[in-house]
Parts: sequence; structure tokens; C-alpha cells
Amino acid sequence: MPLSVPFIDLKRFEPGFEDAVLGSFSSLTQNAQFVGGSEVARLEKRLSEQVGVEHTVSCANGTDAIQLALRAIGVERGDIVLVPNVTFWATFEAVVNVGGTPVTVDCDISDGGVSFDAFEQAIKSSRPKAAILAHLYGWGSARLRELRDLCDQNDVSLVEDGAQCFGAEFEDASIYAGASIATTSFYPAKVLGAAGDGGAVFTNDPQLAERTRQLTNHGRTAHYGHGLVGWNSRMDALQAAYLNHALDHIDARISSRRAAAGVYENALSKLDPGCGLEVMSAPKSYSQNGYCNVCLVRDPSVKNRLEAALKGAGIGFGNIYPSVMSEQPAAAQYLKEHVGGRMGQDLCTSVLNLPLFPYITRAELDRVLDVVKEALDI
Ligand SMILES: *Cc1c(COP(=O)(O)O)cnc(C)c1O
Repeated sequence: MPLSVPFIDLKRFEPGFEDAVLGSFSSLTQNAQFVGGSEVARLEKRLSEQVGVEHTVSCANGTDAIQLALRAIGVERGDIVLVPNVTFWATFEAVVNVGGTPVTVDCDISDGGVSFDAFEQAIKSSRPKAAILAHLYGWGSARLRELRDLCDQNDVSLVEDGAQCFGAEFEDASIYAGASIATTSFYPAKVLGAAGDGGAVFTNDPQLAERTRQLTNHGRTAHYGHGLVGWNSRMDALQAAYLNHALDHIDARISSRRAAAGVYENALSKLDPGCGLEVMSAPKSYSQNGYCNVCLVRDPSVKNRLEAALKGAGIGFGNIYPSVMSEQPAAAQYLKEHVGGRMGQDLCTSVLNLPLFPYITRAELDRVLDVVKEALDI
């Protein structure tokens, strides 16, 4: 029987991992320690050290993290916020949920980030209060430094949605470290995955951190003193304990992801461009985290053939993401305008993601590559 390969397999834990988690769950349960407490405080401290930021505020999920960051920087009802047209829907939703008015910006198909020209044009024409960049696929935009500078120069507060870039390095530091405020998600399938939902906001600014923390906890300034209208977005102690154990192994998990991404890149970048498949790679200024493999297959008939071959061989595949924000059914009633062209649509219809997860084996990677090459007739 030829080897089948899942698109993602989250059950490949390190020896001893599950026992360590159960040990922590048992002691938290015995002590009825469920909200806040030492596990949450320890997680935040370790995350700050791991990603090289001054402040980490944990929260309930990655979508809340974006909403918290938008509220922390002062986005209010009616404020215009730029949103990349290619991202997960949560990025768009977060703007609407805090009362903002989204303007979508086209992407750059070379790196999956926003188009620099469309972003610059949107800053001039829409006069946004804030902008969000989403660092997709395990790296960020090749022009991240210029995008950050442009926001600074134009007084646009920038939130970086880093749900997919935990462990990614930009110019030799964590990508979060250079952001004025960044967010992440601990959804189980993300790079640092929880046993459920979780998220965090990273910043070096103590005031933004304090405001974010208050917002996660009903705007509290005292137990029954509320200086802001926030909501409840606290992380559970059980979740924090799980994440503390996951953090013990994060370097190994990321190396495994990077190695797998490297195997794909090495094999696929050597293919003749005429074969119809191109592998997307992180821009030069990045060390990616291996979050996912991204191939572009622009010819629909080649894409169909490849997908049929993968399916027939029992190999999982995906499309992160199949459609742009501005064309989602719920977008029209909130979207002010879209700036730039339709490169986002091209990216969304071309993406083919191959299996990638920590501890995927060399035999599994080779099998995927064999099936791809056979389907491409090489
Ligand atoms: C996963 C993801 C989110 C949302 O995170 P949740 O924890 O699922 O709420 C937001 N943005 C991007 C780019 C994501 O990949």
C-alpha cells in the first residue's frame, strides 16, 4: 500500500507531552485555578522572551486579539481601517466588530502580502485611522519595513495580524518585535497551537499593553471599577498550562516545519517553469516558520489534474485562501471600497497547499513530491 499523507496531523506529540499536560490539568483542577493565575502570568512572560517584546497580553482567541489591538490604538465607530484583501475573514470581521469601516487593499502575488502601491494609494485616498497587515503563510511582506515607515509617516496606526507567523524572523529578529502592535492566534492548527482557542497581543508600548489588558477584562481598573467598556477575553489557566508545555517544544516543532518547507522548496523550485507549478518562497529578509507550503498553479486544468492525483493517492491538500475579502457575501454591507487591482483574486484561485506539519517524515514528503511530479508528467 503506498503511503497516504494527511494535509495536517496534530497528533504527533513529543514523548511525555501528554502526561505533562495531564499533570498540570490535574493540579489546576485540584486547586480550582481556572482563570488567570500563575500559568497565565508565566506564559505571558515566556512569550515576551521568546518573541523579544516587552509586553504580551494573552486573550481568548486570535480574532479577539485583533479586536483588542484595534480598540487599544483607539479605533472608534466610523474610522476607516485598511484591510488586506487576501487574509482570513477574521481580519475583516475584527474591523467591523469594533465599529470601523473596512477598505480592502489588493495583494502582491510575489509574497502574498499587500501590494505596496495599492497600500500607498489607499493611505492617500482613504485617509485611514489605522491599517492591518496580515503576515500569511509563515512570513511577511518583502516590503514590510517600507510599509511600517509609510504608516508612521502618515500617522496611520498599524496592527500586524501575525496569526500565521509565530516563529518567523524578519531582519534577524522575531517579526513581532518590530511591530508597534501585533497579534497572534493559538488555534490548534497554528504554529503554537493550544488545546482549544487562545490568542495574544504583543507590543513594546507599556500604555498600549495596559489598555489591551484592561479591555480583555471588562475595562477593569479595580474589581468593580470599569474605566473602559471592554469585554471578557481572558485566557483560561488550563489553556495557558497547555501552551506552556507546547512552548517547551516550540523550537523543535518549528525546526521540523522549516525543514519540511525546505524539502518542498528545494524540490519544487527546480521544476521547469513550463510544468505549471511554482512554489512560493519567503522573501530574502525572512527566516520563515514553515507554517504552510504554498504552490501556485495558474492553469485550472493543471490544477484539476494535480488535485485529482493527490486525492487518488490519499494525499491531503488545501487552499489557504480560496477567495478575497471584498467578494465574501457579508462584505458588501460594510466595505467602503477596494483599492488596487485583482491580484488577490489571481492568488486565491491559484493556491495549492501541500501537507506540512511538525514531524512530517521524509518518506511522507517524498511520497507527496512523487505524486506531484507524476501528475505533472515529469
Ligand atoms: C487563524 C487566523 C485568525 C483568527 O484566529 P482565531 O484564533 O481562529 O480567532 C486571524 N487571522 C489570520 C490571518 C489567521 O490565520
